[in-house]
Formats: sequence, structure tokens, C-alpha cells
Amino acid sequence: MQVAKLRNIVKRYGNALALDHVDLDIHEGEILGLLGPNGAGKTTLIHALAGLVGIDSGSIEVFGKNQRRHLLDIKRDIGLVTQDIAIFEDMVPAENLAFFGGIYGLKGNALKTRIAETLAFVGLPEHAKKTPAKFSGGMKRRLNIACALVHRPKLLIMDEPTVGIDPQSRNHILESVRELRRRGTTILYTTHYMEEVEALASRVVILDQGHVIAQGTVDDLVRHIQYE
Ligand code: ATP
Repeated sequence: MQVAKLRNIVKRYGNALALDHVDLDIHEGEILGLLGPNGAGKTTLIHALAGLVGIDSGSIEVFGKNQRRHLLDIKRDIGLVTQDIAIFEDMVPAENLAFFGGIYGLKGNALKTRIAETLAFVGLPEHAKKTPAKFSGGMKRRLNIACALVHRPKLLIMDEPTVGIDPQSRNHILESVRELRRRGTTILYTTHYMEEVEALASRVVILDQGHVIAQGTVDDLVRHIQYE
């Protein structure tokens, strides 16, 4: 099944063309790597997919539904890990997750259980009652990921989730992404590290200056680069 189908997406910021007729398909159960240099349009594209920025033209279908007509419905099944960490630094991790879980209608014991499971999943259970303001960059990133996972989205969108963190947290995040895929979550993983794409993704889309310049399996792309 197709999880997302974006066609002919155009997005301008003033005179600048951030997305220039971009097509993107995400298949159920895959880790799709979205690769590209700074300013390529990756964040704009995933924000369009998540319904956070409006597009100038094109069409977006998610879970087989038209995004314009079914945005709220679609958002229930999407988790977005933003590039800039979006957590409450003065609230302990469990309170952060209670806030984000609450937005999705979780409450009572179901919410409590989900918070404990999610903190364990990202490897922060022993820090559940500590203030994130004192966390390392890697721990904050893991909490940021937990906030996007607490409602168990079917599609998880991750915007450069390993930028500026220690290798241990980085490995933990990469392993969590693989585990989520094993559990059936579809993942769109944005990065500018080729080695992360090689380690994780079944398919890759390369974006540059608002254009898709290549796509295929990692092996396809490596072969393509070798023959050029
Ligand atoms: P990065 O790896 O640096 O996050 P990116 O591939 O995610 O880059 P975008 O952030 O989507 O790229 O930016 C694409 C283009 O659109 C860039 O030229 C950027 O300067 C421009 N842009 C992005 N957001 C805005 C905005 N809110 N207003 C004006 N221009 C913007």
C-alpha cells in the first residue's frame, strides 16, 4: 500500500522556489531516506507532507486520503520529529509525553502505560523524573523523538534527528528507527549523512535545489555514482 503520494509539489517563499514540481512516494513499511544538502528543500517538503506549510500547487494524498479534505484525520497517524528540538525543558520527560499524548486524546492508565513504554523505548526510563534542561543534546533528541511516538503513529517523519549529538545517542536513535520499522511503522528519514541512509534506508530520494535529482535503492544509487 502507498502511505503517501505527493505530486507536482510547488512551494515558493517570495521569489524563491523551495520545491519545484516534486513527486514523492512513500510505501508502507519502508524506511525512505530523504537526502540533500542544506537548503535543498527537505524540511519544506516534509512540512508540506505533515500539513504544516501550505503548498502553491500540487496534490498530497496520505493513507489514501486527500490531505486538503482529511488533514485532521491524517495528522492523528503521523508523528513528526522536528529538526529543532521541540520539548518543554522545564517539564520532566513524563510530563512532556503526557502533554503530547493528551493532544492525541490519550488519558488515564492508557496514557501512563504508553508514557512508560515510550520512555523505555527511547532509553530514558531512569531519567523520567529529571528536568530536560540538564540533559545532554542526545538525551534531548531522544525525548523529542519520544514526544512524536507516544501516540504510535503509522508514519513517522524525522527531520535530521541525529544532528549534533554524541555517537552513543546516535547509535541508539538509529537502532530505534530500525526497531520501529520491524514493528510496522513507515519512516521518512531526512538527513544529509549518506552513511545514515546506507545504514537505514531501503530506498532513497535525493533532493537538490527543490528538485528530485535521483531516487532508488541505496545499491542503485551507489552503482549510479560509480558509473558517472
Ligand atoms: P537544511 O538541511 O538546512 O534544513 P532543507 O533541505 O531542509 O535544508 P529547506 O529548509 O526546506 O531546506 O529550505 C529550502 C529553501 O527555502 C532554502 O533556500 C531556504 O532558504 C528557503 N526557505 C525555507 N523556509 C523559508 C521561509 N520560512 N521563508 C523564506 N525562505 C525559506
